[in-house]
Amino acid sequence: MPVPISQAWTVASYVLKQKIKGRKQYPLVLMLEPLYRCNLACAGCGKIQYPAHVLKQELSPEECFKAADECGTPMVSIPGGEPLMHSQIEKIVEGLVARKKYIYLCTNALLLKEKLHLFKPSKYLTFSVHLDGQKEHHDFSVCREGGYELAVEGMKEALKRGFRVTTNTTLFDGADPKSVRAFFDEMMELGVEGMMLSPGYSYDKAPDQKHFLGRARTRRLFRAILANRKPTWQFNQSMLFLEFLMGKRDFRCTPWGMPTYSIFGWQKPCYLLQDGYTDSFAELMSTTEWGNYGTESGNPKCANCMVHSGYEASGVDYTFSSLKGLWAAAKATLFTRNQDDEALLMLNEPVAPVHSYNPLVQIDSKSSKLEETRA
Ligand code: SF4
Repeated sequence: MPVPISQAWTVASYVLKQKIKGRKQYPLVLMLEPLYRCNLACAGCGKIQYPAHVLKQELSPEECFKAADECGTPMVSIPGGEPLMHSQIEKIVEGLVARKKYIYLCTNALLLKEKLHLFKPSKYLTFSVHLDGQKEHHDFSVCREGGYELAVEGMKEALKRGFRVTTNTTLFDGADPKSVRAFFDEMMELGVEGMMLSPGYSYDKAPDQKHFLGRARTRRLFRAILANRKPTWQFNQSMLFLEFLMGKRDFRCTPWGMPTYSIFGWQKPCYLLQDGYTDSFAELMSTTEWGNYGTESGNPKCANCMVHSGYEASGVDYTFSSLKGLWAAAKATLFTRNQDDEALLMLNEPVAPVHSYNPLVQIDSKSSKLEETRA
């Protein structure tokens, strides 16, 4: 079981309640960004590019609780920035645990070992550690030598003290599927509860705009990685979302599924784009032109996107929309092997060495061309 039964039950009953109420658009996971400050400056992340006066700001615990109460999701993901650098992160976590929210505290884990004493193990709290692959790949991806080792040290300590620990991995163009599979083995041997995956998205503010994946390349990469799956691998996310990444099914983006709240307010329409902010969650839901987003909308900013914050909630929504969806999710959970001989051959294809990515995919968010049409 990739997540504890109590969490699966809480999420399932929440989604079923939304369905019974006839709500077509409902939030599933609050993306709570209490600060943008970070102790890394990853090439694929634009958050650290904000000016100093923005990086200094933090949401107060009360503002975080108000956002969680307003949108009412059963799960809260806390990315950033680096949440462990927030001056009151333990108060934020404590208050959310008291509200029985399942929290994924997304951290690069550089500070995890020294800050662990601030937290108590709980079924509601998971440290979701950002690791982009094996040592060399991760350190290159986050532009910090030694980052992998420090993170693993923190994870071992957290596991020893009884915390829930998962990994979250973002894959970019040039990722080596064989190495990613070896990384999965390493993480499961370390004792993490499960892993989460997503392709990268080209933030307008990210300094490195050349190594984001287009849709056809995303599907090919994830098929090579996730077909012929080992039974030991556990994924802490929707199995239907993984099938979507492998190109086995298609979903429409549901950006309302993971609303984002930060020091600027509620972000339109999703974690990745910044088409304005609202003061309240109700205003976000009622004033966002949701039809203007998602690949099928023709919006060039969404053309190549397949990221979890747009499509994972789509997988969960599909699961609970019909018996067909429930059956598909059950099958994807029980029969995980996905035997695929062609995908095995893909593992032997040469990949660019990690330090010499070729700019084969160049996503220009101002261009309306789909990379898929060129693949
Ligand atoms: S397709 Fe991606 S960028 Fe566009 S709204 Fe959905 S999640 Fe955001």
